[in-house]
Amino acid sequence: MLKGKTALVTGSTSGIGLGIAKALAQQGANIVLNGFGDFEHPKADIAALGVKAEYHGADMSKPAEIDDMMKFAASKFGQVDILVNNAGIQFVANIEDFPPERWDAVIAINLTSAFHTTRLAVPAMRKANWGRVINIASAHGLVASAQKSAYVAAKHGIVGLTKTVALETAKTGVTVNAICPGWVLTPLVQKQIDDRSAKEGLSVAQAQTELLGEKQPSLQFTTVEQLGGLAVFLCSPAADQVRGVAWQVDGGWTAQ
Ligand code: NAD
Repeated sequence: MLKGKTALVTGSTSGIGLGIAKALAQQGANIVLNGFGDFEHPKADIAALGVKAEYHGADMSKPAEIDDMMKFAASKFGQVDILVNNAGIQFVANIEDFPPERWDAVIAINLTSAFHTTRLAVPAMRKANWGRVINIASAHGLVASAQKSAYVAAKHGIVGLTKTVALETAKTGVTVNAICPGWVLTPLVQKQIDDRSAKEGLSVAQAQTELLGEKQPSLQFTTVEQLGGLAVFLCSPAADQVRGVAWQVDGGWTAQ
């Protein structure tokens, strides 16, 4: 379905980004990976699906590096047809203890990076009269949790950005939507489980059950494959008029 298209997925060396990159590659899209850590294995896994895979290590907190990544993608593949803004970090503390530099980092990586990638990708999408921007927000884009001020602010912000750009592109073949996952068992969440286990003297399994029980009525993690499936749907013709949504995949979290 996506043969000949190019998808750039930020933060795709692990977790949700990698899962979405694989799902898009399975539909034939060439992939530009981004993120920290080992990229050779993810790149080889994508290439094994029979598409072209490239990697750019831009730090999403640095606008000049984002600019360089977008130019790199265009030089390799002509243009970015599908942009998935996924890179994200978490920091947990009460507001009075929240280090200002952590606030700045969460806002830069989880929100401002999407402003930069989107402003740089949309002109070519408009010209082609086809494009998809998929922002990975969160249940925290719709509701809050204590001690996550920067993350919740960034995720509410990206839902707002999604709606605004969806309106600006509404008369074109470019759609802009957000996906709002609940808990997904990735390194980002494993760290929160490990912290809880250490702080409360629980086993890792108990900490996992508590984490789910607090928020996610299904008591099951959302999987990266489920999120990949939704991203593929948003790229399909059936989703041509899905514009500006913030789509929960959260086991009922935000239905409460
Ligand atoms: P993860 O830690 O597994 O992956 C994060 C990715 O972002 C990695 O590839 C990492 O290298 C990259 N990254 C981090 N800082 C970066 C930077 N400065 N520049 C470039 N890349 C950077 O996390 P994940 O759980 O897969 O999270 C992916 C996205 O999904 C995030 O935006 C997160 O907020 C969102 N999300 C996650 C969950 C969850 O339960 N895991 C739930 C809702 C939303």
